[in-house]
Amino acid sequence: LIYLLNANLTLGKNGVPVAENFRLEQSTIPDTVQAGQVRVKTLYLSVDPYMRCRMNEDTGSDYLQPWQLSEVADGGGIGVVEESKHHNLAKGDFVTSFTWPWQTVAILDGDLLQKLVPQLVDGRLSYFLGAAGVTGLTALLGVREKGHVAAGANQTMVVSGAAGACGSLAGQIGRLEGCSRVVGIAGTDEKCSILVQEMGFDAAINYKKGDVAKQLRELCPGGVDVYFDNVGGDISDTVISQMNQNSHIILCGQISQYNKDVPYPPPLPPDTEKIQKERNITRERFLVLNYMDKQEASVLQLCQWIQEGKLKVRETVVEGLANIGAAFQSMMNGGNIGKQIVLVSK
Ligand code: NAP
Repeated sequence: LIYLLNANLTLGKNGVPVAENFRLEQSTIPDTVQAGQVRVKTLYLSVDPYMRCRMNEDTGSDYLQPWQLSEVADGGGIGVVEESKHHNLAKGDFVTSFTWPWQTVAILDGDLLQKLVPQLVDGRLSYFLGAAGVTGLTALLGVREKGHVAAGANQTMVVSGAAGACGSLAGQIGRLEGCSRVVGIAGTDEKCSILVQEMGFDAAINYKKGDVAKQLRELCPGGVDVYFDNVGGDISDTVISQMNQNSHIILCGQISQYNKDVPYPPPLPPDTEKIQKERNITRERFLVLNYMDKQEASVLQLCQWIQEGKLKVRETVVEGLANIGAAFQSMMNGGNIGKQIVLVSK
């Protein structure tokens, strides 16, 4: 007997996700594992903003398939092999995939799984869904591929969505790669204080309080050279208005727009677009999946920084497959600090 999570409702183009969009059911899996397959027990699942796009029939995104109504949802996951008929996988191996079904137990094609080396993260396996996984790769490769960060160039970096999974790493990586000043923008005072006290940001702004433009002017007196944009919308218009000539936007995500029926990336408002063009600010789309040839070396770099204590990692962990819908909703509403993880089994 297994538990599985079905995508219960499509949201329509402009809806806000709720926990009831998912339905927990009991089911069974086949008794036998076929050649090439493995039976896995799910340990951790990831909930991510892109999943909001998978809740529409038209995802608005060219690389994502929508979840089908009443079919098992899937995403990043980690598990342990319980039985193997795959030549390269053995009982006890830890494995991961981007398309892990939201089930407690599953039979999967072994060729689609990547074997994990727990020692790389000192046994903290869930990091492979966050700082040592796609999230960390997004932060590192976003900064390296689109940030034009140069050591000694005295650059100021601003990060929006700064206390989230990608943002909290991106600011730290900006610093490690050479930015002289790093300022975060996040949704609570607690998040802002963690960014400064724990993660080495120079300052952080709570965008739900006070005048963001004024605080940003005070905290970035030389203007903004690199902007790691996770959110889009008004926050990004404010940051872009304070960016320097020939500066760079790392267009990582636009979460403030994901519940709306707009194309990705959403077009900038005319005034902001005018600033972007006049100041020659780059704003190229960044998609981590386009850089998977750099995955191995980049994961090793991230793990080394984590082990050396140079990259501080935060997770928000919710227990139980039954709570994954609520965890997704909470993350979309800012309930997480660092990576939102769902612990399915120990
Ligand atoms: P996350 O930042 O850990 O979680 C989402 C955060 O977004 C929330 O904690 C919330 O924090 C913030 N937020 C929600 N609504 C907002 C709004 N209207 N305005 C401002 N902030 C809002 O999620 P993540 O996985 O690290 O993803 C961050 C961004 O990276 C997303 O846009 C995602 O799509 C993107 N991404 C892109 C790639 C790529 O390849 N380009 C890969 C992975 C992720 P607050 O409390 O601060 O509001």
